[in-house]
Amino acid sequence: MDQVGFITAETRPSPWGVATKPVNQCSLADVMSEQLARELQLEEESHAFPQELLSDEGPFLTGEGIETSSDEVLAQMLQMQFDREHDAQLRREEKKFNGDSKVSISFENYRKIHPCEDSDSSGEEVDWQDTRHDPYKADKPTTTPKKGFVGKGKDITTKHDEVVCGRKNTARMENFTPEFQVGDGIGMDLKLPNRVFNALKQHSISEQRRSARLHDKKEVSTAEKVVDPKTRLLLYKIVNSGALENINGCVSTGKESVVFHADGGSMEDQDVPPECALKVFKTTLNEFKNRDKYIKDDYRFKDRFSKLNPRKIIRMWAEKEMHNLKRMQKAGIPCPEVVMLKKHVLVMSFIGKDQMPAPTLKEAKLGLEESKQAYYQVLSMMKQLYDECSLVHADLSEYNMLWHDGKVWLIDVSQSVEPTHPHGLEFLYRDCRNVSQFFQKSGVAETPNERELFNIVSGLNITSDNQVDFMAEIEALEKMNEDHVQNHSKKISTFQKDDEGPPLIYDE
Ligand code: ATP
Ligand code: MN
Repeated sequence: MDQVGFITAETRPSPWGVATKPVNQCSLADVMSEQLARELQLEEESHAFPQELLSDEGPFLTGEGIETSSDEVLAQMLQMQFDREHDAQLRREEKKFNGDSKVSISFENYRKIHPCEDSDSSGEEVDWQDTRHDPYKADKPTTTPKKGFVGKGKDITTKHDEVVCGRKNTARMENFTPEFQVGDGIGMDLKLPNRVFNALKQHSISEQRRSARLHDKKEVSTAEKVVDPKTRLLLYKIVNSGALENINGCVSTGKESVVFHADGGSMEDQDVPPECALKVFKTTLNEFKNRDKYIKDDYRFKDRFSKLNPRKIIRMWAEKEMHNLKRMQKAGIPCPEVVMLKKHVLVMSFIGKDQMPAPTLKEAKLGLEESKQAYYQVLSMMKQLYDECSLVHADLSEYNMLWHDGKVWLIDVSQSVEPTHPHGLEFLYRDCRNVSQFFQKSGVAETPNERELFNIVSGLNITSDNQVDFMAEIEALEKMNEDHVQNHSKKISTFQKDDEGPPLIYDE
């Protein structure tokens, strides 16, 4: 502080340029008032700029005064002032945030100024720390009082004292994240220089970020964030049984399900593919409300639907997908191969490679020739599905067809129904419209319009040339069919049993 006093108006360089020398002689009164002015200014400065800059320990002194002509120093001083204001604001926020709460959250780590540099707070901060340098002597902690030093005369020890500061730094390592191994330090009077402390602090922060990232990945990979505890337990059981080696990342979170990639394990009575897809049907019922119509009117599930609770209905979706996939597989349609069904979790083969799911037709960006091949394949699959599997996909679009190994694979068949379903033909019409529009847009000239496609797939011959009449005819057919089904439901049920075996028995 004293040194500043030596700076005179003549020698003090102006921060904004070189000050002009005063030329006039002045009276004693002027000198007096000038001194007063200087004193006032000094007082102001000592408030505005941090103590460190003005003290003899500060790094910003050159020669005998503050080197304010250096832009760098000025910038640093301003930055310091800015940081100080930031920290003051932070303290206010911390106070407001914590209020009267018994448990408080510290914003300490967000401060810009190292506490050791910050004369405002270092006193209160170290109350608990200094006993540490001598663990066997729990004497009163030596804190620095508000005035900034202890002792008298030559023996003054300020808070900037190397030993005091070093001890504070050592103790402050306690504030690092718990994962950061700092040792216990007990029995050692360890004094960390600021430079070392700062380096360690930086390291601890970057370590914390890194570990947060790793932690995130692990959680997603074990599917923890995405599924409820009951499902987690179920997944755990599947892995524990050895059927799956590992459950990896989430492949997709759709409207009705979450799909994970898993490494196949082994089962006694069947082969498990090396890469599996695990489709977890969402148990949040909202998602399924609008799907009632698919399953409620499906005669295969009619008897059971009315008696089931919502949780069981969701399992029926998974079961339905399994049955439909099995039918498709029998017919040789490229689709995931069923591995097992556990409650609302369906395990099947993974379409893709090295944990990367095959792109959907929407994403695949096929060339014209490939698009053409894909179109013919889709056409024949739709016919097969209808004729051989007695199914209508009911959600067929470029989003539910994957392009893998140079061919199209059908997925997502939980909502698929028999053509005799009360709305089966409407669903088929919608599928045809999606397929027709997609391949027309892809430039496949051979693509028929949706009505032609519908007739090709269904073998029906509806002649209307506009959508409204066409739909009216479809609905009339459905009505006729429904009456027919009602009359013959017993006969069809027999077919159902043979086809899919006994209904699954659920345990709660
Ligand atoms: P969405 O609501 O998005 O249609 P969904 O709940 O109906 O989803 P699916 O369509 O069966 O579920 O699957 C969603 C996504 O998961 C698919 O687009 C595909 O990328 C991926 N997927 C599903 N099954 C498999 C599988 N067997 N192999 C590879 N990827 C799969
Ligand atoms: Mn889908």
